[in-house]
Amino acid sequence: MVDGLKLMERESLEMDVVFVGAGPANLAGAFHLARLIERAKSEEQSAKGKQLGEIQIAVIEKGASIGAHILSGAVMDPRGLAELIPDFLEQGAPLESPVKEDQFLFLTKKHAIRSPINPPPLNNHGYYIISLNRLTAWLGEKCEAAGVNIFPEFPGAEMLYDADERVVGVRTGDKGIDKEGKRKANFEPGVDLVAKVTVLGEGVRGSLTKKLIQRLNLDAGREPQVYSLGVKELWELPDDRYPTGRVTHTLGFPSDQWTYGGGWIYGMQNRVLNLGYVTGLDYRDPLIDPHAEFQRFKTHPFVAKLLDGGKMIRYGAKAIAAGGWHAMPQMYADGVLIVGDSAGFLNAARLKGIHSAIKSGMLAAETIFDALVAGDFSASKLRGYEDRVKQSWITPELRRYRNFHAGFRHGRWLGMANAGLQYITGGRAWGILDRDRQEPGHEAVRQLSSYGYHGDDPAQRYPDLRFDGQLTFNKVTDVYHAAVAHDEDQPAHLHVLDTNICATRCAEEYGNPCQRFCPAAVYEMADKGSGRRELQINFSNCVHCKTCDIMDPYQIINWVTPEGGGGPDYKGM
Ligand code: SF4
Repeated sequence: MVDGLKLMERESLEMDVVFVGAGPANLAGAFHLARLIERAKSEEQSAKGKQLGEIQIAVIEKGASIGAHILSGAVMDPRGLAELIPDFLEQGAPLESPVKEDQFLFLTKKHAIRSPINPPPLNNHGYYIISLNRLTAWLGEKCEAAGVNIFPEFPGAEMLYDADERVVGVRTGDKGIDKEGKRKANFEPGVDLVAKVTVLGEGVRGSLTKKLIQRLNLDAGREPQVYSLGVKELWELPDDRYPTGRVTHTLGFPSDQWTYGGGWIYGMQNRVLNLGYVTGLDYRDPLIDPHAEFQRFKTHPFVAKLLDGGKMIRYGAKAIAAGGWHAMPQMYADGVLIVGDSAGFLNAARLKGIHSAIKSGMLAAETIFDALVAGDFSASKLRGYEDRVKQSWITPELRRYRNFHAGFRHGRWLGMANAGLQYITGGRAWGILDRDRQEPGHEAVRQLSSYGYHGDDPAQRYPDLRFDGQLTFNKVTDVYHAAVAHDEDQPAHLHVLDTNICATRCAEEYGNPCQRFCPAAVYEMADKGSGRRELQINFSNCVHCKTCDIMDPYQIINWVTPEGGGGPDYKGM
């Protein structure tokens, strides 16, 4: 019996496999599974094919369309895509450009110093600059052509468990609830998608994945996941000053040496420049604002000159799982698998995860295929997925950089030295870091007093930062360029479990850092008169980056899925 079914009459749809989230991992998984089934059936004498019968595969996606919520840099190592669709070029995969030139710069406040050699993990020869939004939309079309059911505007709201704690599917979110929690005229209850296997590929810090890991203790014995936040804009340039296919990565300005961070600048087609800045969500200074760090990055003379006369056309922000090998949870349990960014497949040293996300989806599909043939969806059968990951090229790649992020706990220079050393020691680095636990980012941030700050005035950290509306933009202007839309008459999808803390303890200790770490101006300490301030949540601005769920120092913010279709529209990002 599925928990909670008695609470409301809900439609129940029987599927065989449900993929939650239409990112590259899940779309690759759904496509590969459909193809494995098709192949087995088309082999006339295939015993496997005869056993399978009709298999229903669904992909559900909270965005209004496939790719709407997908944001990445991105330079793609094509290894995963080439295994999924060997003739991806002939089939017209939407790629912006092959990488034609790589450069690595160290930025001081005024100068850009080009490194004579590119750090080996950032050698992008043979790779492609892409818009991941476009690539996922294309993979979605491939899935549909292969017979996969695709359901946009269907957010996964809750996992369904049976009495033995086995996952038996997912419940999608209700539609048509007003902000008071009452049903509107257009009310539609969510659907229970009952499945033999549910695959969580919700991206970084997936809301269902987070709860599943906690409930089934899937991170026991692993290091805590650590994250970064990437903030990005697309610019139209007036001329060909930055060629299509050039890739630039930067280190240094504006990050201080205790803050993990770096910039990227990629040349796309039609004089579009794709640039962004990553800030480690394990920073120490409580007044750090990742959006402001990115705006400062653009004021560097090298970057400002590139953008001079150009026009900002798009904006987005998204968290990145940077913890690597040691922070990956157990990726299977009864009836469920975790793939892609939800499991932390990103290689932070190489700034790449699309190839391994696609591969993880394919390995999940092969495991599910075996499970369908055997009629066994238990954890012991689905464990085959993790075994496949261990035997694949993913594991040596991730193990080689397993101590990359942990090294930066010791500051930028020791972090860099550690990164170089691990490259030649097969990932061991100092040797001690294998036992040096990463701390969760929200525990790394210090209190205002330890930095000598008085109150939360951002000018204490950013005395020169101005938003001029030409080179630098405030969050509200940027959010407009993320094309975010949420129906405002719905309950807020940011659940702050104890708002009493906001105006008292949090204001005093950290100066309400939610106002800064959110890149979309969702959180605001509104003045209520007589010196009283109260937390106001402008949830309709939310770009679904998940930073607040990660970075809140008291861990009392829960991001849950809003009504289906709401959120950013990252077209071309
Ligand atoms: Fe990101 Fe949270 Fe702000 Fe939404 S509210 S944009 S998830 S930090």
